[in-house]
Amino acid sequence: MHRFFLTGGPFHIGQRVDITLISKQLTSVLRAQPGDEITLLDGEGNASTASITSLSKNNSTARILEQYVVQTEPKTALTLYQCTLKADKFEWVLQKGTELGVTHFVPIISTRSIVRPASKVLQKYERWRRILQEAAEQSGRGRLPTLGEPLLFNAMLDIATGLKLLPWEEKSQEKNAALGDMIHDNMKRTAERDGVSLLIGSEGGFEANEIDAAHERGWQIVSLGPRILRAETAALAATAIVLDQLDEMG
Ligand code: SAH
Repeated sequence: MHRFFLTGGPFHIGQRVDITLISKQLTSVLRAQPGDEITLLDGEGNASTASITSLSKNNSTARILEQYVVQTEPKTALTLYQCTLKADKFEWVLQKGTELGVTHFVPIISTRSIVRPASKVLQKYERWRRILQEAAEQSGRGRLPTLGEPLLFNAMLDIATGLKLLPWEEKSQEKNAALGDMIHDNMKRTAERDGVSLLIGSEGGFEANEIDAAHERGWQIVSLGPRILRAETAALAATAIVLDQLDEMG
């Protein structure tokens, strides 16, 4: 059944809801007919099954048949602080991160970020929000992941909260703990209680002084293994590892 995020919820059974906002998608893309059933999501985790009662360009309605709470949202909020990447790679991270269960995305401008300044990043937000909504509808999310304002690296260091995980591929003095072990062995409760912040570098990675600054502010430097992953691979691998360790992928 097709799913759509629609403001104006939560709805109640029997209510007739204006769905004109999605009528173009329903008619031209999905060839929907009156009588067809759709799922309406209020973005807060509530869902309604609705039956289309009328479909026209500027006046479409549906009647609410049942209400339920969407059970697909992770219990632990994962914020992905992703250093800006070339457009298609960043959009890949937004789409796949949404499917995997990321709750908040925050674009970060680091020393080696390709895309800068923030004004240039902000130009993409309209398109990026659409990517998040489509991925959330497709993957059956109960909530729309949020897209935070772009932050400079140092500002992010002061803002990030919870269990702060920074995958870094460079060899440092001591061998860095594997990400999965870091959570499994000693950080699972912290993650479940305070949420998780995950910071992934840009194509060029991080400067050593950025790693030092993050380490000083309590970021756990972790490894994703001996192979060097592209940023978009690392973002998704790390997200999957974290959510799996928190029993969110079962
Ligand atoms: N130095 C890399 C460029 C950075 S890879 C190169 O030469 O291609 C992009 C980001 O992915 C890194 O900043 C880091 O956050 C993450 N990453 C990639 N491989 C990793 C690994 N094996 N362990 C930990 N983090 C990794």
